[in-house]
Amino acid sequence: MMGEHLANFECFACKTHFQPFFFALSRQFERIDFDRDGGIDVEQAEGLTRYCTNACLQGHYPSVMAEQQVPIPALRPGYSAVERCAVCSGPVDMTRFHLTYTLEYSEDRGWCVQPIEVENVAVVCQKCAPFTFGVSLATDHSSDHERALSPESTELVSLPSPT
Ligand SMILES: [Zn+2]
Ligand SMILES: [Zn+2]
Repeated sequence: MMGEHLANFECFACKTHFQPFFFALSRQFERIDFDRDGGIDVEQAEGLTRYCTNACLQGHYPSVMAEQQVPIPALRPGYSAVERCAVCSGPVDMTRFHLTYTLEYSEDRGWCVQPIEVENVAVVCQKCAPFTFGVSLATDHSSDHERALSPESTELVSLPSPT
């Protein structure tokens, strides 16, 4: 049985229409709050691409990361106080807002998107991607980045802020 909302999106790689469960590449600014037992504050979450299967995700998202000009590190960042910047290999202070790329396995419930699994792809230090409240990510970078994003990409995934 196909729900009405299932046909609204196509896989970025193979153009298959989505199942309610899908894979996505997103980016957002995050900050770990160790005072709150490692709670994570999220700002400016932005869905980049969505895929019907993990195979489509794995085959396509490296090209999106290349457009973002962020190398995919061999060792994926975790949630320590300091992780390594994917761009300059310098330290990332994880307790301050920093740009984070994630892969997600989520369920589209029509009226909301529920992340089921989230995996870090890369974190970027504050020098390479400064965080400013209220400034969109695209303006922090060259116009190339703006063109790399499809116009509808901002609506694809909206992450709830963990509380
Ligand atoms: Zn696909
Ligand atoms: Zn850096």
